Amino acid sequence: MTDTAGSSSATPSTPSTFPVVIAVANQKGGVGKTTTTVNLSAALAELGFRTLIIDFDPQGNASSGLDIDARRLDATMSEVLLGTESLENAIEATAEKNLFIAPSDKTLADAAAEVMTKDRVSPNTRLRRAIETVANDWDYIFIDCPPSLDMLTINAFTAASMIVAPVQCEYYALEGLRDLSWIVNEVKENLNPKLRVGHFLLTMFTHTTLANEVEADVRANYGDLVFKTVIPRNVRLAEAPSQGKSILKFDPSSPGAKAYRAVAKEMSNGATPRTR
Ligand code: ATP
Ligand code: MG
Repeated sequence: MTDTAGSSSATPSTPSTFPVVIAVANQKGGVGKTTTTVNLSAALAELGFRTLIIDFDPQGNASSGLDIDARRLDATMSEVLLGTESLENAIEATAEKNLFIAPSDKTLADAAAEVMTKDRVSPNTRLRRAIETVANDWDYIFIDCPPSLDMLTINAFTAASMIVAPVQCEYYALEGLRDLSWIVNEVKENLNPKLRVGHFLLTMFTHTTLANEVEADVRANYGDLVFKTVIPRNVRLAEAPSQGKSILKFDPSSPGAKAYRAVAKEMSNGATPRTR
């Protein structure tokens, strides 16, 4: 992944032009992708940035975590992927100011399979084309990816300008990043030359020797591409989705809320929301 980022400046996350489209990805399951998508988006929304989450995982965890039941909606990311609804129609407001979501449920897996069999020409650019139709309305667009390097993730990488990869501080963390790096380079060469790995985010950190070693390893390999902020293991982050809220609303002074606010500051790097 160092290759991918080779041309980046010292502040790789500076948004030169809005919207910044970010795929939150790591094919390893349970590393904090959805927790990061929801809470980093909420922290940027709190700073005044108009932020859209695209739930692109059939598990639909970002949607349910923000109290949106995609099963009751006519327009979800399944219909957007199939091309029968516009992305604009699929966007729902959340209870949090400036924070919106285009939700998903398990029908997204069938929609992906259908597109793969029927669209032989450009199945991987469908999300990008949908995002282009709403791009001007948003400062940040986050795509929550499933835990695999499948068609949905490739669509997300094709649409994104940047990848944020949450890395859980445990053994084998670096091995998974090598597979991710390979796919990123393939997409970059074939579908999306502007794609870069914006940042790695260390998640679920506990003060153990192992976690310290993993952090040191990731920083030694990826340097400036690793967010300075580390997300601590904090049970409040695991509890917030059951109340349908981000950590910023659920427990604003918790260590998890403070950490995601700090990541949002690093990411926006002094930029201000577009005036509308
Ligand atoms: P999947 O690959 O299934 O989509 P994921 O990578 O999106 O998973 P999450 O769902 O964000 O991972 O997190 C996995 C579990 O760990 C969830 O139960 C979540 O609430 C919990 N969790 C995530 N981050 C933290 C944290 N920093 N502290 C405590 N619990 C956390
Ligand atoms: Mg998830």
